[in-house]
Amino acid sequence: MILGALEGGGTKMVCAVGDETGRIREQVSIPTRTPEETMPAMIDYFRDKGISALGIATFGPIDVHRDSPDYGKVLNTPKLPWQNFNIVKPFEEALGVPVGFDTDVNGSCLGEVTYGAARGLDCVVYFTIGTGIGAGIYINGKLAHGMLHPEAGYILLRVSPKDPAGSICPFHDCCFEGLASGPSIEKRWGAGAKELKDRMEVWDLESEYIAQAMVDVIMTLSPQRIILGGGVMHQQQLFPSIRAKVTRMLNGYLQTRELSDMEHYIVPASLHDDQGIMGAIRIAEMALQGQ
Ligand code: ADP
Repeated sequence: MILGALEGGGTKMVCAVGDETGRIREQVSIPTRTPEETMPAMIDYFRDKGISALGIATFGPIDVHRDSPDYGKVLNTPKLPWQNFNIVKPFEEALGVPVGFDTDVNGSCLGEVTYGAARGLDCVVYFTIGTGIGAGIYINGKLAHGMLHPEAGYILLRVSPKDPAGSICPFHDCCFEGLASGPSIEKRWGAGAKELKDRMEVWDLESEYIAQAMVDVIMTLSPQRIILGGGVMHQQQLFPSIRAKVTRMLNGYLQTRELSDMEHYIVPASLHDDQGIMGAIRIAEMALQGQ
């Protein structure tokens, strides 16, 4: 079966064709400009590929509720040309196949659950820590939507007394994204995150914020595994430090098999940065199955 996948990002739209095993046969990147420019290019790409369904995993906020009049729309995104644009309808009309639609991070979470580090589990949280921070949540065997969809990149944290700069978020003075995204690290320490690799204090503070967020998620959602992806998490030295701080912050309150094996509990993304596009393949398959 041939399935189409679209991972929508602020700088590029990754369009791919694959099959239900998650194998990507081919993919292209199309720059994210205005919908008027970018949509026809994406539709042209998919038009003659013989796909049975399309899965879209995109930046948000978006309306993912099928019974809503705004279903398929990108909502109040800072990417202004896309505000209120319905990204689903033009594909349905032009391609005549079922189209599934979810957030980029829910897509990545689903990719890991279906093909990667969280196979076989039914409560999983995926965080991307990159230009922004976002979370995909898979709970009781389904992606979480709720009133909109989770926006766990904006959970509020306690600002560390060791933090020389604080949050860069225009909305919140202590949210996870404002304190721990790539641009926040770069503004605080005055250099690219990659160039800061050997500065211990950078990763000590970063792991402190990530650990706080992990504890909040552990206490609220009780995930069986947490997966951390995104550019910043390429700093592999963060993992041991996050795990140790989470254990310290939990302070023995929870005793579970999962938490006693931290190395398999808080883990890196496993699909070589293809988790988003592979998740979109699975979203396409689910759309075909009417899920
Ligand atoms: P996006 O979030 O835009 O989809 P990424 O997940 O690659 O893309 O995140 C980009 C951010 O991650 C930038 O702020 C960049 O500085 C940071 N980043 C990318 N690679 C690394 C790395 N190897 N180490 C630390 N930070 C990185």
